[in-house]
Amino acid sequence: ERSAIRQISGWLWEIPRSYRSDMRVPARFYASEAMLEQILADRSLEQLVNVATLPGIVGFALAMPDIHEGYGFPIGGVAAFDPDAGIISPGGIGYDINCGVRLLATSQPFESVREKIPDLVKEIYRQVPSGVGHGNRITFSSKQLEQILRDGAPRMVAFGYGEPEDLGHIESGGVIDVADPSKVSQYAKQRGGDQLGTLGTGNHFVEIDRIDAIFDQEAAVRMGLFEGQIVIQLHTGSRGLGHQIATDYIRVMNRAMPKYGIEVPDRELACAPFCSPEGQEYFSAMSAGANFAWANRQLITWEIRQAWRAVVGDDPLRVVYDVAHNIAKVETHEIDGHRRQLLVHRKGATRAFVGQPVIIPGSMGTASFVLEGGLASMHESFGSSCHGAGRRMSRTKAKHMVQGSQLRQELEAIGVSVQAGSMQGLAEEASAAYKDIGEVVSTVVSAGIARKVVRLVPVGVMKG
Ligand code: 5GP
Ligand code: MN
Ligand code: MN
Repeated sequence: ERSAIRQISGWLWEIPRSYRSDMRVPARFYASEAMLEQILADRSLEQLVNVATLPGIVGFALAMPDIHEGYGFPIGGVAAFDPDAGIISPGGIGYDINCGVRLLATSQPFESVREKIPDLVKEIYRQVPSGVGHGNRITFSSKQLEQILRDGAPRMVAFGYGEPEDLGHIESGGVIDVADPSKVSQYAKQRGGDQLGTLGTGNHFVEIDRIDAIFDQEAAVRMGLFEGQIVIQLHTGSRGLGHQIATDYIRVMNRAMPKYGIEVPDRELACAPFCSPEGQEYFSAMSAGANFAWANRQLITWEIRQAWRAVVGDDPLRVVYDVAHNIAKVETHEIDGHRRQLLVHRKGATRAFVGQPVIIPGSMGTASFVLEGGLASMHESFGSSCHGAGRRMSRTKAKHMVQGSQLRQELEAIGVSVQAGSMQGLAEEASAAYKDIGEVVSTVVSAGIARKVVRLVPVGVMKG
């Protein structure tokens, strides 16, 4: 309820521990005053309070301004746990393990490829398979799949899909070394086995953008970005494989909780002590799922490069950066002057270490941003920022309000070429279904969590 919320600053709000007797830490969220109404419209703050009750949580249950309701934990949430006394929860990571965004830079200004954009979008649509459960014509043996689960993007590059330089521009180098493929079920491997290099549906996209504003010239130069430049965003995750890992371990944890005496206010918060066998097995499987997602974005990058070469020419597409926004990682953070290892869950939240590129998609009809991690992120948000605009309307509501074919016409009219697997799917992703990206980004910038580097506007989009 509104009355329980205390305003800390123009961008930060707190629900104190006294709000509910089961809270172990306060809940805090970043938002402008204008965004508050929208946030209160769904169950996301109640979910955030639920997160604040989990064993071993450190500091605050946090949420970014793109917060909205999710499975158990809100999307836009960050929660850090003591690795010895705390838990790990699949709901705090999400079903799409290591869903994330990769940004590719071309060397071309918009003006020189303008006429080719519609063909480029068509060719990307041909090269990158999409749709529900769709497989790829590029396949891997079960031995190769094991290697990918263990070794992530570097293994995909070793298979010939990409350049060694790509790997220096991926969060964690595109691999988490605690991954253990033997903790991933046979069914998960079967579901995801032929989905490497595929986009999936709905919110997942490949988008061609033009850089239309530079906010920090020095940082832009460092990232190799310039005004008018054509860049490409790629958003997808671990497909059926990650989804099945989440499903499998939510079941495991629901069964294990009584054994560890854990009670949660919502079944969807199923969790296990991080140091328990169940916790460690999920962490190893989740990390394998994260590696799969990085390998997936690596192979899709290869496919996009094929399309670019076919339509535009030989100049190379460079990886600017690749961020995970659904993941849990062990990281060292400074808490009250002490350096401490923590298990940081980010669900619909992006790592934003100081100086790191932070890629924030907005929507296919508005804008997206490249930010750079700011100092406050290390002091306040466990090195994290927002991950997008965040939904303000459910998919169901969006498809009732918006007609896909009309939306497509509107996008084409503002200069965005569209290729989509389904018109209904397109409607679910209308800009109107998302919060104002400018407002979300200004909020994290005001907080000092991140700084603006460049703004992107769409000129072509492929939706699954
Ligand atoms: P999520 O991972 O939560 O599904 O999506 C991340 C963010 O991507 C959303 O919050 C939304 O702001 C953004 N988004 C969804 N569809 C598109 C799109 O087609 N283009 C761009 N640029 N952003 C999108
Ligand atoms: Mn996803
Ligand atoms: Mn995502």
